[in-house]
Amino acid sequence: MEKWPVAMATQEFLENCEVHKGKKFALFCEDHSQLCCHTCDLSHRQCSKVTPIANTTLSASDDQQLSAEINTILDQLMKLQAYWKSNLESLQVSYKKRL
Ligand SMILES: [Zn+2]
Ligand SMILES: [Zn+2]
Repeated sequence: MEKWPVAMATQEFLENCEVHKGKKFALFCEDHSQLCCHTCDLSHRQCSKVTPIANTTLSASDDQQLSAEINTILDQLMKLQAYWKSNLESLQVSYKKRL
């Protein structure tokens, strides 16, 4: 997690309301396509679709599963890259032979 490019400060910045300092986003207004905190919500009382945001914080096990999946994909990409590299080399060898 600490190796991820998004630092904790950035995450906090993304989660917090810029109008009401220290308040976290808790709702989403579809009418305005806007994230709202509970204080913002007061000005969206007339809006038809204000839905609470689900708790999307990844649990430790989800996080481990995700990084395992990323590692698997990375592994496959490396193999694919090696495959194309050897393919290209054999092509160059036969090309030289023909010359
Ligand atoms: Zn707010
Ligand atoms: Zn609204």
